[in-house]
Amino acid sequence: MRYALDLTIEEWKHYLSEKQEKTFLAASIFRWIHGRRVMDFNAMSDLPLKLREKLKEDFYLALPAVAAEQVSPDGTRKYLLSLGNASLPDRSVTDVECVLMKYRFGYSLCISSQAGCRMGCRFCASTLNGLERNLTGGEMAAQIYAVEQAAQVTVSHVVVMGCGEPFDNWDELMRYLSVIHSEEGKNLSYRNITVSTCGLPEKIRSFADTDLPVTLAISLHAPNDLIRRKIMRIAGAVDMDTLMDACRYYISRTNRRITFEYLLIDHLNDSKKEAEELAERLKGLLCHVNVIPVNPVEECGFSRPSEARIADFVNTLENRHVPVTRRREMGGSIDAACGQLRHKQSQQRTER
Ligand code: SAH
Repeated sequence: MRYALDLTIEEWKHYLSEKQEKTFLAASIFRWIHGRRVMDFNAMSDLPLKLREKLKEDFYLALPAVAAEQVSPDGTRKYLLSLGNASLPDRSVTDVECVLMKYRFGYSLCISSQAGCRMGCRFCASTLNGLERNLTGGEMAAQIYAVEQAAQVTVSHVVVMGCGEPFDNWDELMRYLSVIHSEEGKNLSYRNITVSTCGLPEKIRSFADTDLPVTLAISLHAPNDLIRRKIMRIAGAVDMDTLMDACRYYISRTNRRITFEYLLIDHLNDSKKEAEELAERLKGLLCHVNVIPVNPVEECGFSRPSEARIADFVNTLENRHVPVTRRREMGGSIDAACGQLRHKQSQQRTER
């Protein structure tokens, strides 16, 4: 059995030709699933009955169920979705989280690319129990469809900033981007998609080479290797110079602006001196810095700086002409930081 949402139109053609069926039906099947979100082969009225029977034997077709939902006073909604099915090999049932945010321009959804994560960032709840498994491209797309259905909204922007490291699940990330961009399906513009990485240089270069006009965000969180190594395990393997070389390659190849995420942690990376060092490091680079005070995770022991320190940090960057915004924090009261809800639920389960 395979998950029906994973197949691209090309792969449906391949399947149909293997089964000696008419390959022009590929686009039709894809449209039923990704365009009209029909999760029942019986209802695909333009497919021959015999083919519908075959499809039922070969494919699992369903959207993930909502296992938990939290709504914060600012309207942000967090969903815990149950992915996988016992009939799918290597697709054990697992919960992942997505966060739906309302902006003036529409709804933006933050999706997960892996269940758990193996990157080991010390402030992040997603990685506390390591990587459970990769998600498939179809499972990533399914998060959008399930939330659109549950919240009765249309999502116009998607960020891959939930659990997991998307560049550590490269092939499925590419599948996901192709599936949600397809005009027979969600038809989402690449420009409305952001992919966030902790900074894997080889993959940053490959991403540039794909030429997809997707926004790239990089979790930098420090102005130098010494500090970065204290909070991000990846910094032990990849130094800042190597990371910045890859960023410069990306910018020169695509002419696109990189978003640098900078988490502010009290008295760790938030001094004026560190803001100055960051400005120096980013001088002349086509980029934008998103500053966000850390959302404390109990197990991690980091705390949020005072408002004065946050303002000082942002002002220092501004004075040095670094384009910077303080990211609007949403859903703080509902454990909206990466992996918090999932972690809490799994703990409750073990305590029970
Ligand atoms: N692995 C990717 C994407 C997932 S993390 C990456 O590292 O970018 C998405 C963003 O949430 C990253 O910028 C990450 O550093 C941030 N994040 C993780 N834990 C957080 C916390 N406790 N508070 C605020 N942001 C957090």
